[in-house]
Amino acid sequence: MEADKLHIQDIIDQARQYNPASDSGLLLRAYELAALAHAGQLRDSGEEYVSHPLHVGKIITDLQLDDTSIAAGFLHDVVEDTPYSLDYLTKEFGEEIARLVDGVTKLSRLEYRSRQERQAENLRKMFLAMASDIRIILIKLADRLHNMQTLRFHSSLKRQKEIAEETKTIYAPLAHRLGIFKIKSQLEDLALESLEPDKYEALVKQMTMERQEREHYLELMCDIIMDNLRKAGISAEISSRSKNYYSIYAKMLRQQKNLSEIFDLNAVRVIVDTVVDCYGVLGVVHTLWKPIPGRFKDFVAMPKNNMYQSIHTTVIGENGVPLEVQIRTHDMHRIAEYGIAAHWRYKEGRSADADFEKKIEWLRQMLEWQQDLDSPKEFVETVKSDLFSDSVFVFSPKGDVYELSAGSCPIDFAYRVHTQVGHQCVGSKVNKRIVPLDYRLENGDIVEILTNKNSHPSRDWLKIVKTQTAKNRINQWFNREAREVKLAQGRELLEKECQKYQHDPDAILKPDKLAEAANRLGFSHTDDLYVAVGSGSVTVYQAISKIKADYRQGIAQKPKIREFDERKSRGQGVWVADIDNVAVSFARCCKPLPGDSIVGYITRGRGVSIHRDDCNNIANYRKQEQDRLIEAGWFEQIHGVFQVELKILANNRDRLTIDIMATIADSKIIVNALHITFDPKTRIATVLVKLEVNSLDQLNHLLARLMRVPDVLEAGRVTSPEGRKNN
Ligand code: MN
Repeated sequence: MEADKLHIQDIIDQARQYNPASDSGLLLRAYELAALAHAGQLRDSGEEYVSHPLHVGKIITDLQLDDTSIAAGFLHDVVEDTPYSLDYLTKEFGEEIARLVDGVTKLSRLEYRSRQERQAENLRKMFLAMASDIRIILIKLADRLHNMQTLRFHSSLKRQKEIAEETKTIYAPLAHRLGIFKIKSQLEDLALESLEPDKYEALVKQMTMERQEREHYLELMCDIIMDNLRKAGISAEISSRSKNYYSIYAKMLRQQKNLSEIFDLNAVRVIVDTVVDCYGVLGVVHTLWKPIPGRFKDFVAMPKNNMYQSIHTTVIGENGVPLEVQIRTHDMHRIAEYGIAAHWRYKEGRSADADFEKKIEWLRQMLEWQQDLDSPKEFVETVKSDLFSDSVFVFSPKGDVYELSAGSCPIDFAYRVHTQVGHQCVGSKVNKRIVPLDYRLENGDIVEILTNKNSHPSRDWLKIVKTQTAKNRINQWFNREAREVKLAQGRELLEKECQKYQHDPDAILKPDKLAEAANRLGFSHTDDLYVAVGSGSVTVYQAISKIKADYRQGIAQKPKIREFDERKSRGQGVWVADIDNVAVSFARCCKPLPGDSIVGYITRGRGVSIHRDDCNNIANYRKQEQDRLIEAGWFEQIHGVFQVELKILANNRDRLTIDIMATIADSKIIVNALHITFDPKTRIATVLVKLEVNSLDQLNHLLARLMRVPDVLEAGRVTSPEGRKNN
C-alpha cells in the first residue's frame, strides 16, 4: 500500500525530535510485544497485522504526544485480539499504559452498538465520558484514522459503508469537538470518498484541473501580502491553505452552489508572533483589497467552543478573485491543528501533578470562555462530565444511549425510558445478568428493565435512585395514589349522603352540577372537590349544599339546606328544604310512596303538602305557582303505611275480582276500598282499589303480580284523578 514502508525506527526518531528524553527502549519493547502478539495475523490489505498498530503509533507521534500514548497505540489491539492479558501488560509496561489500552479496548467494544444518527451526540459524549483520560480518545481517533486509510481493503463493501458512516457521524465530529483539525479533515475526506465515491472523484478531478491556475494566483497574492507586511514591520509566515474536500462538498451542498462559487476555495494563512500583529495583518489586508461584507470573523476575541482562535476575512483580490485570509499566532495555530492534543503533548519534566494541573487549567480556560460567549456550551458540559465524572452512559437493549447521573441505578434508567416503565419496574438485567435494583450502573452497561403491570413503586426506591427525575416521578406516584384514595372516599361520602335521603346519586351528582359546585368552592376540577371531601377539608354538607343549591335552582328561592337530622323526628319520614318547623302532609291526589320522587307545595296555612313529582297538580303549580314549590325527599328508613289507589283494566270474566283480591291478599296488603265498573260494549272491567302499602317496592311487586292475573290488561297507580281537588 504505502510506497515507503513505515518502520519502527522512523517513529522512535520522530519522537526523539520533539522529545529529547523519549524512552526509545520503551517504544521498541511495546512495538516488539505487539509484533509478537499479532504474529501470524493479517490485515485485509494482506499486510501483517502489526502494520496497523505501527501506523496508529505514527499518527500519535504526529500529534507529538508522550511516550506512554505512543506505546499504548502500539499495544491497543493486543488485549482484544491476542492471548495477552491486561494483567500481563500491567506487569510489563505499568499501570498507565495498561489503563490506556484498557480504555481503548472498551471503546472498541462499544463501537458498533448503535449507528442511529440521532444517537450520535450521546455516543460522542459517552466516548468522552468513558475515556477517563483524554489520551484514550486520541489513540482511538488514531486507530480510526488508520482504519479509514485502509478501508478500501475491507472485505465487505457493506461494512465499509457502515464504518464510513460511523466515522462521519461520530469520529469526525469528535475530532472537531476536540479541535484536532488534522485528524478531523482526513476522517471527513475518507468518509466522503467511501460514501459518495462518484462525487468525491469529480470534486478531486475538478480541483486538480484548476489547481495550477489557483496556485499561480495564490502565489501572487502571498507575495503582495508579504511585501506589505515587511513595509509595515510585521514578521509573518504565510502559506496557501488547502481546504479539505469534505468541507467544500458540504458547503456546496449547504449553499446549493457549484465549485466556482465557493469563496474560500482560495485561502492563505498568515501566522504571526503576537495577537497585536494579527490585527496589524488584518489592517494591511483590508487596505490592499476590499473586504466582502459579512465574511469577517474574529475568533481571536471570541474563540470557538473547541478552542479554535483565528481571524477570518475574505477580500476581493487581484483580478476580482475572492481570497480568504486566516490570521493567527503560532500558539493559536498549534491549537487549531492539534486541539486538545496540544495540551497533552510532551513537555519536559512534566509530573503527574503537572498533568492534573494542566487538565484543570484547561478546564478553567474553557469556563472563562464560556462566560464570554452566549452560544450553548455543550462541549464544556461534556468536558466537565469527563473530568468530574458526573455522568454515566448506558444502552437500552435496542442500542439507544441514555445519559444518567453517575451513581444511577436501574430504576433511574427505567424512569428515563418511560414513567410507566419506572412505575412497573420489578427487576433489571445488566449485560444480560439479573442485578439488584440498587446496582450502580457503569458506562457502557446494557440495561434491560423487567416490568409487571400490577407492580408499583416502593418508598424504598427514594433512597436508591440518584436522578431527580426518578425521585419526582416516584413522589408523584405516591401523591397520586394518596389522592386517588381520597378521591374515592370523597365520592363515596357524597353518594352515601344522597342515598341517605332517598336521592338517586346519579340525579344529584351530575357532572355539570358537580363542576359548578367545585368551582364555587374554589376548585378547578370536580376531582379536586371529591379529594377535598375525602380528606375532610370540605365537609359533606358544604359540598352537598353547593351541589343541591344548583339542583334546586328555579324551584326554591333561597337555597339553604337544613340539618336533615333535626327534622327526622318531625314530618313522617319526609324532609323539606328551607323551612323550619313546618307541618308536612301527603297530598291525596297522588299519594306519594317512599321512593317516589317528591316535591313540596307550600299551602296557604296548612304547611307543606308532599306530591309526587309527576303529579298533574304539580304540573299546574309549576306553571302558576312556581315559587311555592320546594324541594323535598325521603329519609332513609321509613316505617309507616301509605295510601294508594290502583286502577286495573281487564277483560271481564267470572271470578276476575276474586282473582285480583286473592293476589292482593297474598301480598299481605290491606284493601280499604273496592269499586268495579263494567262496560258492556267493550266488555272491559275497570277495578279501582284503595289499599295501604309500606313502600314503593311493595307496591311495584304487587303491580307485577297483578299483571300476571289472567285477562288483566293494565294495572297502575291513579294520579290526580280528574275533578278531585288537592287535599
Ligand atoms: Mn485498531
